[in-house]
Amino acid sequence: MEKKNIKDYTQNELKEIIADLDEPGYRAGQIFGWLYKDADDFEAMTNLSKELRTKLNERFYIFKSNIIDEKNLTDSTKFLITLEDNNLIETVLLRYKYGYTLCVSSQVGCKMGCGFCASTINGFVRDLKPGEMVEQIMLVERHKNIRVSRVVIMGSGEPLDNYDNVMRFIRIINDKNGINIGARHITISTCGIVPGIYKLADEKLQLTLAVSLHAAMDEKRLAIMPVNRAYPIKDIISAVKYYTERTNRRATFEYSMIRGFNDTDEDAEKLALLIRGILCNVNLIPINSVEETGFLPSVSERVMKFKDKLEEFGINVTIRRSLGEEIDAACGQLRRSYLEKQE
Ligand code: SF4
Repeated sequence: MEKKNIKDYTQNELKEIIADLDEPGYRAGQIFGWLYKDADDFEAMTNLSKELRTKLNERFYIFKSNIIDEKNLTDSTKFLITLEDNNLIETVLLRYKYGYTLCVSSQVGCKMGCGFCASTINGFVRDLKPGEMVEQIMLVERHKNIRVSRVVIMGSGEPLDNYDNVMRFIRIINDKNGINIGARHITISTCGIVPGIYKLADEKLQLTLAVSLHAAMDEKRLAIMPVNRAYPIKDIISAVKYYTERTNRRATFEYSMIRGFNDTDEDAEKLALLIRGILCNVNLIPINSVEETGFLPSVSERVMKFKDKLEEFGINVTIRRSLGEEIDAACGQLRRSYLEKQE
Protein backbone atom coordinates (compact mmCIF):
# COMPACT_ATOMS: atom_id res chain seq x y z
CA MET A 1 0.00 0.00 0.00
CA GLU A 2 1.41 3.39 -1.04
CA LYS A 3 1.63 5.70 1.98
CA LYS A 4 -0.14 9.06 1.79
CA ASN A 5 0.74 12.39 3.39
CA ILE A 6 -1.70 12.65 6.29
CA LYS A 7 -1.59 16.45 6.14
CA ASP A 8 -3.52 16.33 2.85
CA TYR A 9 -6.74 15.65 4.79
CA THR A 10 -9.20 17.95 6.51
CA GLN A 11 -10.43 16.99 9.97
CA ASN A 12 -13.74 15.76 8.49
CA GLU A 13 -11.89 13.61 5.98
CA LEU A 14 -9.75 12.21 8.81
CA LYS A 15 -12.94 11.29 10.68
CA GLU A 16 -13.99 9.11 7.75
CA ILE A 17 -10.55 7.52 7.61
CA ILE A 18 -10.65 6.84 11.34
CA ALA A 19 -14.13 5.29 11.05
CA ASP A 20 -12.76 2.93 8.37
CA LEU A 21 -10.06 1.91 10.85
CA ASP A 22 -12.82 1.04 13.40
CA GLU A 23 -11.73 3.80 15.75
CA PRO A 24 -13.99 6.34 17.47
CA GLY A 25 -14.45 9.72 15.71
CA TYR A 26 -12.82 11.79 18.47
CA ARG A 27 -9.47 10.23 17.55
CA ALA A 28 -9.47 12.35 14.37
CA GLY A 29 -9.42 15.53 16.52
CA GLN A 30 -6.55 14.13 18.57
CA ILE A 31 -4.52 13.24 15.48
CA PHE A 32 -5.28 16.59 13.89
CA GLY A 33 -4.12 18.36 17.06
CA TRP A 34 -0.80 16.50 17.04
CA LEU A 35 -0.20 17.17 13.36
CA TYR A 36 -0.58 20.91 13.79
CA LYS A 37 1.52 20.91 16.92
CA ASP A 38 4.11 19.75 14.39
CA ALA A 39 4.58 16.14 15.53
CA ASP A 40 7.42 14.45 13.65
CA ASP A 41 5.88 10.99 13.56
CA PHE A 42 2.94 8.93 14.82
CA GLU A 43 4.97 7.58 17.75
CA ALA A 44 4.89 11.08 19.26
CA MET A 45 1.06 10.88 19.48
CA THR A 46 1.13 9.39 22.94
CA ASN A 47 -2.60 9.60 23.70
CA LEU A 48 -3.34 7.19 20.82
CA SER A 49 -3.19 3.44 21.35
CA LYS A 50 -0.13 1.62 20.10
CA GLU A 51 -2.39 -0.29 17.72
CA LEU A 52 -3.77 2.91 16.14
CA ARG A 53 -0.30 4.42 15.81
CA THR A 54 0.81 1.27 13.97
CA LYS A 55 -2.23 1.41 11.66
CA LEU A 56 -1.53 5.06 10.86
CA ASN A 57 2.12 4.35 10.26
CA GLU A 58 1.26 1.62 7.77
CA ARG A 59 -0.95 3.94 5.72
CA PHE A 60 0.44 7.46 6.16
CA TYR A 61 3.51 9.59 6.64
CA ILE A 62 3.94 13.18 7.84
CA PHE A 63 5.38 15.32 5.05
CA LYS A 64 7.99 17.93 5.91
CA SER A 65 9.87 19.99 3.34
CA ASN A 66 13.18 21.85 3.31
CA ILE A 67 14.33 25.36 2.59
CA ILE A 68 17.16 25.39 0.06
CA ASP A 69 17.54 29.13 -0.38
CA GLU A 70 16.47 32.19 1.56
CA LYS A 71 16.74 35.87 0.68
CA ASN A 72 16.12 38.57 3.23
CA LEU A 73 15.01 42.17 2.90
CA THR A 74 14.07 44.52 5.70
CA ASP A 75 10.40 43.55 5.79
CA SER A 76 10.24 40.32 3.83
CA THR A 77 11.99 37.02 3.34
CA LYS A 78 11.65 34.84 0.30
CA PHE A 79 12.14 31.08 0.66
CA LEU A 80 12.86 28.50 -2.02
CA ILE A 81 11.40 25.20 -0.86
CA THR A 82 11.99 21.72 -2.21
CA LEU A 83 9.20 19.14 -2.55
CA GLU A 84 9.36 15.35 -2.41
CA ASP A 85 9.61 15.04 -6.18
CA ASN A 86 12.41 17.66 -6.22
CA ASN A 87 10.16 20.33 -7.65
CA LEU A 88 10.75 23.81 -6.23
CA ILE A 89 8.27 26.36 -4.97
CA GLU A 90 8.49 29.82 -3.45
CA THR A 91 6.95 31.28 -0.32
CA VAL A 92 7.32 34.87 0.87
CA LEU A 93 7.11 35.96 4.50
CA LEU A 94 6.01 39.56 5.03
CA ARG A 95 6.45 41.39 8.30
CA TYR A 96 3.81 43.97 9.16
CA LYS A 97 3.12 45.92 12.35
CA TYR A 98 0.27 43.55 13.17
CA GLY A 99 2.27 40.36 12.59
CA TYR A 100 3.40 37.95 9.91
CA THR A 101 1.71 37.24 6.60
CA LEU A 102 2.75 34.36 4.38
CA CYS A 103 2.30 34.46 0.61
CA VAL A 104 1.71 30.81 -0.35
CA SER A 105 2.15 29.13 -3.75
CA SER A 106 -0.65 26.89 -5.01
CA GLN A 107 0.98 25.29 -8.07
CA VAL A 108 4.45 24.49 -9.36
CA GLY A 109 4.70 26.97 -12.24
CA CYS A 110 1.51 28.35 -13.76
CA LYS A 111 -0.43 27.93 -17.00
CA MET A 112 -2.07 31.35 -17.05
CA GLY A 113 0.67 33.10 -19.02
CA CYS A 114 0.39 36.60 -17.52
CA GLY A 115 2.88 38.73 -19.43
CA PHE A 116 4.50 40.36 -16.38
CA CYS A 117 5.02 37.19 -14.33
CA ALA A 118 8.10 34.99 -13.94
CA SER A 119 6.12 32.03 -12.55
CA THR A 120 4.64 31.21 -15.91
CA ILE A 121 7.77 31.52 -18.07
CA ASN A 122 8.75 27.86 -17.61
CA GLY A 123 5.13 26.75 -17.89
CA PHE A 124 2.95 24.67 -15.61
CA VAL A 125 4.37 21.62 -13.84
CA ARG A 126 1.69 20.43 -11.40
CA ASP A 127 -0.88 21.33 -8.77
CA LEU A 128 0.19 21.46 -5.14
CA LYS A 129 -1.60 19.19 -2.70
CA PRO A 130 -3.18 20.59 0.47
CA GLY A 131 -0.36 19.24 2.67
CA GLU A 132 2.27 20.92 0.49
CA MET A 133 0.52 24.27 0.97
CA VAL A 134 0.09 23.69 4.72
CA GLU A 135 3.76 22.78 5.00
CA GLN A 136 4.79 26.15 3.53
CA ILE A 137 3.30 27.76 6.64
CA MET A 138 4.58 25.18 9.11
CA LEU A 139 8.09 25.14 7.65
CA VAL A 140 8.46 28.93 7.85
CA GLU A 141 7.01 29.00 11.38
CA ARG A 142 9.43 26.26 12.47
CA HIS A 143 12.40 27.81 10.72
CA LYS A 144 11.84 31.36 12.01
CA ASN A 145 10.22 30.42 15.31
CA ILE A 146 7.26 32.68 14.62
CA ARG A 147 3.49 32.44 14.25
CA VAL A 148 1.96 33.34 10.87
CA SER A 149 -1.34 35.17 11.42
CA ARG A 150 -2.43 35.87 7.85
CA VAL A 151 -2.17 33.93 4.61
CA VAL A 152 -2.43 35.22 1.06
CA ILE A 153 -2.67 32.60 -1.69
CA MET A 154 -0.87 34.80 -4.13
CA GLY A 155 2.43 33.04 -4.83
CA SER A 156 3.10 30.94 -7.92
CA GLY A 157 0.04 29.37 -9.51
CA GLU A 158 -3.61 30.20 -9.98
CA PRO A 159 -5.49 28.95 -6.89
CA LEU A 160 -8.88 28.66 -8.60
CA ASP A 161 -7.24 26.38 -11.20
CA ASN A 162 -6.45 24.01 -8.31
CA TYR A 163 -9.78 24.58 -6.61
CA ASP A 164 -10.39 21.42 -4.58
CA ASN A 165 -6.88 21.20 -3.15
CA VAL A 166 -6.89 24.90 -2.27
CA MET A 167 -10.27 24.59 -0.53
CA ARG A 168 -9.02 21.63 1.52
CA PHE A 169 -5.92 23.64 2.42
CA ILE A 170 -8.11 26.52 3.55
CA ARG A 171 -10.30 24.22 5.67
CA ILE A 172 -7.20 22.78 7.35
CA ILE A 173 -5.61 26.12 8.21
CA ASN A 174 -8.97 27.61 9.24
CA ASP A 175 -9.69 24.67 11.60
CA LYS A 176 -9.36 25.58 15.29
CA ASN A 177 -7.54 22.28 15.85
CA GLY A 178 -5.40 22.96 12.79
CA ILE A 179 -3.41 26.13 12.21
CA ASN A 180 -6.38 28.23 13.31
CA ILE A 181 -6.15 31.17 10.93
CA GLY A 182 -9.48 32.98 10.70
CA ALA A 183 -11.16 33.04 7.27
CA ARG A 184 -11.06 36.83 7.27
CA HIS A 185 -7.28 36.57 7.50
CA ILE A 186 -7.04 34.39 4.41
CA THR A 187 -6.93 36.02 0.97
CA ILE A 188 -7.36 34.08 -2.23
CA SER A 189 -6.03 35.84 -5.30
CA THR A 190 -7.18 34.97 -8.80
CA CYS A 191 -6.40 36.20 -12.30
CA GLY A 192 -10.14 36.04 -12.96
CA ILE A 193 -11.33 32.43 -13.26
CA VAL A 194 -15.02 33.32 -13.34
CA PRO A 195 -16.62 29.92 -12.53
CA GLY A 196 -14.23 29.58 -9.59
CA ILE A 197 -15.29 32.97 -8.19
CA TYR A 198 -18.97 31.93 -8.27
CA LYS A 199 -18.14 28.60 -6.63
CA LEU A 200 -16.09 30.32 -3.95
CA ALA A 201 -18.94 32.74 -3.23
CA ASP A 202 -21.22 29.77 -2.49
CA GLU A 203 -18.76 28.17 -0.01
CA LYS A 204 -20.09 30.52 2.69
CA LEU A 205 -16.59 31.31 3.94
CA GLN A 206 -15.55 34.82 4.93
CA LEU A 207 -12.42 34.77 2.77
CA THR A 208 -11.05 37.90 1.17
CA LEU A 209 -11.16 37.72 -2.61
CA ALA A 210 -8.49 39.55 -4.59
CA VAL A 211 -8.81 39.75 -8.37
CA SER A 212 -5.84 40.68 -10.56
CA LEU A 213 -7.40 43.08 -13.02
CA HIS A 214 -4.42 45.16 -14.24
CA ALA A 215 -6.42 46.85 -17.02
CA ALA A 216 -9.97 48.14 -17.41
CA MET A 217 -10.23 47.52 -21.15
CA ASP A 218 -10.41 44.03 -22.67
CA GLU A 219 -7.96 44.74 -25.46
CA LYS A 220 -5.33 46.01 -23.07
CA ARG A 221 -5.92 43.28 -20.52
CA LEU A 222 -5.70 40.62 -23.20
CA ALA A 223 -2.27 41.93 -24.18
CA ILE A 224 -0.89 40.96 -20.75
CA MET A 225 -3.39 38.33 -19.52
CA PRO A 226 -4.37 35.58 -21.98
CA VAL A 227 -7.02 34.40 -19.47
CA ASN A 228 -9.07 37.42 -20.56
CA ARG A 229 -9.95 35.54 -23.76
CA ALA A 230 -11.92 32.99 -21.76
CA TYR A 231 -13.18 35.41 -19.09
CA PRO A 232 -13.59 38.99 -20.30
CA ILE A 233 -13.75 41.91 -17.91
CA LYS A 234 -17.55 42.25 -17.79
CA ASP A 235 -17.92 38.59 -16.71
CA ILE A 236 -15.28 39.08 -14.01
CA ILE A 237 -17.04 42.18 -12.70
CA SER A 238 -20.39 40.32 -12.52
CA ALA A 239 -18.73 37.45 -10.65
CA VAL A 240 -17.05 39.81 -8.17
CA LYS A 241 -20.38 41.59 -7.55
CA TYR A 242 -21.96 38.22 -6.84
CA TYR A 243 -19.11 37.38 -4.44
CA THR A 244 -19.48 40.61 -2.48
CA GLU A 245 -23.26 40.25 -2.31
CA ARG A 246 -23.12 36.61 -1.15
CA THR A 247 -20.39 37.15 1.43
CA ASN A 248 -20.77 40.82 2.28
CA ARG A 249 -16.98 40.97 2.09
CA ARG A 250 -15.07 43.77 0.39
CA ALA A 251 -13.21 42.48 -2.68
CA THR A 252 -9.82 43.79 -3.77
CA PHE A 253 -8.90 44.58 -7.34
CA GLU A 254 -5.16 44.20 -7.80
CA TYR A 255 -3.74 46.60 -10.36
CA SER A 256 -0.07 46.24 -11.34
CA MET A 257 1.17 49.56 -12.60
CA ILE A 258 3.24 49.16 -15.75
CA ARG A 259 5.02 52.23 -17.02
CA GLY A 260 3.39 53.73 -20.13
CA PHE A 261 1.03 50.78 -20.52
CA ASN A 262 -1.85 50.98 -18.05
CA ASP A 263 -1.03 53.97 -15.85
CA THR A 264 -2.61 57.01 -17.57
CA ASP A 265 -5.44 59.14 -16.19
CA GLU A 266 -7.69 57.62 -18.85
CA ASP A 267 -6.88 54.13 -17.52
CA ALA A 268 -7.75 55.30 -14.02
CA GLU A 269 -11.07 56.78 -15.15
CA LYS A 270 -12.05 53.65 -17.06
CA LEU A 271 -11.21 51.57 -14.00
CA ALA A 272 -13.23 53.81 -11.69
CA LEU A 273 -16.30 53.67 -13.95
CA LEU A 274 -16.02 49.90 -14.21
CA ILE A 275 -15.98 49.15 -10.50
CA ARG A 276 -17.93 52.09 -9.07
CA GLY A 277 -20.71 50.84 -6.80
CA ILE A 278 -19.04 47.51 -5.96
CA LEU A 279 -17.99 46.82 -2.37
CA CYS A 280 -14.29 46.89 -3.14
CA ASN A 281 -10.96 48.61 -2.97
CA VAL A 282 -8.10 48.88 -5.43
CA ASN A 283 -4.59 47.85 -4.56
CA LEU A 284 -2.01 49.54 -6.78
CA ILE A 285 1.19 47.55 -7.20
CA PRO A 286 4.28 49.04 -8.79
CA ILE A 287 5.48 45.90 -10.60
CA ASN A 288 8.89 44.38 -10.10
CA SER A 289 10.87 44.32 -13.33
CA VAL A 290 11.31 40.85 -14.80
CA GLU A 291 14.08 40.86 -17.37
CA GLU A 292 12.28 38.59 -19.83
CA THR A 293 9.04 40.59 -19.87
CA GLY A 294 10.55 43.99 -20.62
CA PHE A 295 7.98 45.74 -18.39
CA LEU A 296 9.04 48.54 -16.07
CA PRO A 297 7.25 49.84 -12.97
CA SER A 298 5.35 53.15 -13.14
CA VAL A 299 7.19 56.05 -11.51
CA SER A 300 5.91 57.02 -8.04
CA GLU A 301 4.49 60.33 -9.19
CA ARG A 302 2.30 58.54 -11.76
CA VAL A 303 1.16 56.02 -9.15
CA MET A 304 0.08 58.90 -6.88
CA LYS A 305 -1.78 60.64 -9.71
CA PHE A 306 -3.53 57.38 -10.61
CA LYS A 307 -4.55 56.99 -6.99
CA ASP A 308 -5.88 60.57 -6.84
CA LYS A 309 -7.95 60.02 -9.97
CA LEU A 310 -9.56 56.87 -8.55
CA GLU A 311 -10.27 58.67 -5.28
CA GLU A 312 -12.06 61.45 -7.17
CA PHE A 313 -14.62 58.76 -8.06
CA GLY A 314 -14.92 57.68 -4.44
CA ILE A 315 -12.88 54.47 -4.85
CA ASN A 316 -10.84 53.22 -1.85
CA VAL A 317 -7.21 52.84 -2.89
CA THR A 318 -4.13 51.39 -1.24
CA ILE A 319 -0.61 51.22 -2.63
CA ARG A 320 1.16 47.97 -1.94
CA ARG A 321 4.76 48.41 -1.04
CA SER A 322 7.09 46.87 -3.57
CA LEU A 323 8.71 43.71 -2.27
CA GLY A 324 12.07 44.71 -3.66
CA GLU A 325 13.80 43.73 -6.81
CA GLU A 326 17.08 42.81 -5.21
CA ILE A 327 15.69 39.57 -3.80
CA ASP A 328 13.98 38.55 -7.05
CA ALA A 329 10.73 39.18 -5.27
CA ALA A 330 8.38 39.08 -8.25
CA CYS A 331 6.52 35.81 -8.08
CA GLY A 332 8.49 32.95 -9.62
CA GLN A 333 11.76 34.80 -10.04
CA LEU A 334 13.76 33.08 -7.31
CA ARG A 335 12.75 29.63 -8.56
CA ARG A 336 13.54 30.65 -12.10
CA SER A 337 16.99 31.99 -11.34
CA TYR A 338 17.71 28.79 -9.37
CA LEU A 339 16.58 26.58 -12.28
CA GLU A 340 18.78 28.58 -14.64
CA LYS A 341 21.82 27.98 -12.43
CA GLN A 342 21.14 24.23 -12.64
CA GLU A 343 21.04 24.22 -16.48
S1 SF4 B 1 0.37 36.29 -12.11
FE1 SF4 B 1 -0.48 34.54 -11.03
S2 SF4 B 1 -2.00 33.70 -12.49
FE2 SF4 B 1 -0.67 35.08 -13.68
S3 SF4 B 1 0.93 33.71 -14.51
FE3 SF4 B 1 1.71 34.58 -12.55
S4 SF4 B 1 1.19 33.03 -11.02
FE4 SF4 B 1 -0.07 32.62 -12.84
